[in-house]
Amino acid sequence: MHFVKAKALLTKENGMNVYRGCAHGCIYCDSRSDCYHFDHPFEDIEVKENAPELLEKILRTKRKRVMIGTGSMADPYQPCEKKLMLTRRCLELINGYEFGATVITKSDLVMRDIDLFKRINDKAKAVLQMTLTVADEELSRKLEPNVCTSKRRYEVIKEFRERGIPTVVWLSPVLPFLSDSEENIRTILDWCVDAGVRGIICFGMGMTLRNGSREYYYRCLDRIDPGLSKKYQRKYGDAYVVPSDNNDRLMKIFHETCAAHNIIDEPEACFRYLRELPEKYTQPSFF
Ligand code: SF4
Repeated sequence: MHFVKAKALLTKENGMNVYRGCAHGCIYCDSRSDCYHFDHPFEDIEVKENAPELLEKILRTKRKRVMIGTGSMADPYQPCEKKLMLTRRCLELINGYEFGATVITKSDLVMRDIDLFKRINDKAKAVLQMTLTVADEELSRKLEPNVCTSKRRYEVIKEFRERGIPTVVWLSPVLPFLSDSEENIRTILDWCVDAGVRGIICFGMGMTLRNGSREYYYRCLDRIDPGLSKKYQRKYGDAYVVPSDNNDRLMKIFHETCAAHNIIDEPEACFRYLRELPEKYTQPSFF
């Protein structure tokens, strides 16, 4: 872990990452791809130590309240957050300035801040986004070795739901030959229904691989199932999009389940929901 003073924090879409790099070790992680130009090892987390100060400056001067998002490139609740509490400090500012917040995480450390999410949601809007990939506990520990399993994440989603905080699930990636079974997808969908999620983001049953992430994925795959990377190479070559052979059947189940339970199932509609902050909350009242 190393500390930097960042010059900027928020993207045009009001997203931020207080950490760069991630210690959760998901074998399929796209964030480690070459195109992101890491100049340090991915596990050597870059900590933007001045993130709260930068965020406060932005929130103080923003003319319109918006949803602030975090977690698209690195998990905001990875282990170092336990001690550093940068994500928490940013959320406290969001709460203080009465903006909305949404986080993407795989970690049950987010439970630490559930009361803060509740306060943000009471004043404006908070949405928890969690990734659920594989229902089998043993496989979940192999694919995402340094974070809680999908089953535990499902319990966390339910806790948020019980406090009235809306949730969205990322059903992604779905790994060919590993997690693309009907049983896996049905179990995850059952969890989503039971936990009353508002939306499920799924771009198709498959995954993406790019230079950098592909090599890492194959090395990990061979430890889990020797020879499986060869099977991938023969079937997909250097393709970016790596679809499951079961895509059509599984997508049908996905859409049918969402339609039956009033769950948003189009990615763009999910993103719209995540960006929306009801108008009564958008105008600052104290400037
Ligand atoms: S939690 Fe996200 S950023 Fe972290 S290793 Fe897993 S996929 Fe990558």
